[in-house]
Amino acid sequence: MTNLLQNPIFQDEAKAREWLEARVWENGVACPHCGNADKKKITQLEGKAHRPGVYQCNEVECRQQFTVTVGTVFERSKIPLTKWLAALFLMTASKKGVSAHQMHRMLGVSYKSTWFMMHRLREAMRAGSLEPMGGHGAIIEADETYYGKPEGETKRKGPRHRNNRPIVSLVERGGSVRSFHVAVANQVTVAQIVRENIRSESRLMTDESRLYDGSLMHVARHDKVKHSADEYVRYDGQNPPIHTNTIESYFSIFKRGMRGVYQHCSEKHLHRYLAEFDFRYNNRIGLGVNDGDRADELAKGIVGKRLTYRRPNSARPQA
Ligand SMILES: [Zn+2]
Repeated sequence: MTNLLQNPIFQDEAKAREWLEARVWENGVACPHCGNADKKKITQLEGKAHRPGVYQCNEVECRQQFTVTVGTVFERSKIPLTKWLAALFLMTASKKGVSAHQMHRMLGVSYKSTWFMMHRLREAMRAGSLEPMGGHGAIIEADETYYGKPEGETKRKGPRHRNNRPIVSLVERGGSVRSFHVAVANQVTVAQIVRENIRSESRLMTDESRLYDGSLMHVARHDKVKHSADEYVRYDGQNPPIHTNTIESYFSIFKRGMRGVYQHCSEKHLHRYLAEFDFRYNNRIGLGVNDGDRADELAKGIVGKRLTYRRPNSARPQA
């Protein structure tokens, strides 16, 4: 950690910008306005007349200026990049998250700005284009939980409880997780999530909840473990054991983080916190992703979330 904190990208704005450029423009500088990625048609503007890090696109129909933050969740921010990167590293390195109060004290940025920065970074953690999960031989565990209820009531099923905020998550055993905050958890919404996110060759494993009864037609096989009968793992010959331990351990990290660190989360923002926990799980040590790789991954994720590709004749955005 000492070495990490001494990294000049947290003190030196030029170093911070170079670090970000190397990740956002992994394949070389590209114009966020027109998509021009031809190095010969892009000039870095230098000299006193320009702030550092400004580029000029020389595509005839574009000719706009840009910096690395244009079209990213950092766009138009007054917060120095050194602080953004410190926030980015802290959020990716802590398993259960960092509270906005703690982050605000560590960064020396106002609480309000810190809160805003953290939501921007959660937006960057949201997965972009999503291929379906699973495939032949893959096991997807699915389960639901209700955020906002005291412990002990979180597994209560059904939409009758007004304070319930149902979350449905799918996790591929040995792979990634995908979480959804749904208005109502019922067979229809769950079947839709399964259909849209899981390859039909996959095997589905759940507890005995009837919520997943509408999902069978979308998967190769559906097995249930009977928690109510104290059955937590069922062995099935040569086949992989039937259980939902993977998804339950994911929910346990999520709940400990939400209870211990974030505490207050309005329903409006719940999907963002889910994106944060999903991101860390999907970029975890167990999958060979270390803290540095995870920060790189998040830096690449800042692109495109607010990106509006502008046509040559539309208004000129600020660089
Ligand atoms: Zn351009």
